[in-house]
Amino acid sequence: MKLAVFGNPIEHSLSPSIHTLFAQQTGVQIEYNKILAPVNAFAETTQDFIAQGGKGFNITVPFKVDAFNLATKHSINAQTAGAVNTIKVDGNTLIGENTDGIGLLNDLTKNLGIDLQNKIVLILGAGGATRGILLPLLQQRPAQVMIANRTASKATQLAKDFESYGETCGFGLEKIKDGPVDIIINATSASLEKQMPNITAGVANNAICYDLMYGKQTPFMDWAQNNNASMVVDGLGMLVEQAASAFEFWTGKQPKTQTVIEAIRALND
Ligand code: NDP
Repeated sequence: MKLAVFGNPIEHSLSPSIHTLFAQQTGVQIEYNKILAPVNAFAETTQDFIAQGGKGFNITVPFKVDAFNLATKHSINAQTAGAVNTIKVDGNTLIGENTDGIGLLNDLTKNLGIDLQNKIVLILGAGGATRGILLPLLQQRPAQVMIANRTASKATQLAKDFESYGETCGFGLEKIKDGPVDIIINATSASLEKQMPNITAGVANNAICYDLMYGKQTPFMDWAQNNNASMVVDGLGMLVEQAASAFEFWTGKQPKTQTVIEAIRALND
């Protein structure tokens, strides 16, 4: 099965290593390549791949919204996220899926044993990643999901967009109060620039702190450790889980993830 990941840049992507391990484990024959798409030619580059027999692909920064527009059919997760990270080629139909949210959820619940029901969740950031994780999180029936963002208006809008799925509210980072909060998810891109969102309140006390960024200790993880968090985790498990969900979507085979998370962490150290 001919598969790929499209992005720009793409060199850093761990997806080929993850999917190769899934293929070895499940006995599915795949060829999975990284493809650098020019920023203004995403659709053309994917069409070439499909013409050469491509059966499925992942999409990463900055093309997740372009991929949404390319897909001719959308899952509910893709629809609510307004972004697509996985496409399956089914004849002339391109089925768009978004596995980021289910990836986070599986890491939190299966790998880390966290029950989200009745919990108070604080998400930092109101970009594409937050939009992708909100529906699967709200489906776990937490007591409340608070969204705090540097640009407050984006957080209030997102909270409004998802209010029919559960208890949501949105505000600026400066409005974060001292806890109690059960889980804090850093879905900002601040870690990419080695920065920490500006939070003064003692909200990390006793909270589980999860950074979507993976691979390196981040300023958010330092902040959580220095502020008495009960657990501090990076997003590598989410990365492997979202890939597992994509692999199953393409092949119908559900790979086991624990050994793959360990192997990818060792590779990335
Ligand atoms: P976007 O560019 O869509 O959104 C970025 C968000 O970060 C915005 O809310 C922005 O606030 C905020 N932000 C950026 N810099 C700062 C800062 N210095 N202080 C406070 N807030 C800041 O990015 P995405 O939502 O697509 O991605 C977010 C992160 O999630 C990335 O690090 C990405 O790598 C990670 N990710 C990880 C995945 C995984 O599998 N582990 C999957 C998907 C994403 P404002 O609106 O004010 O600009």
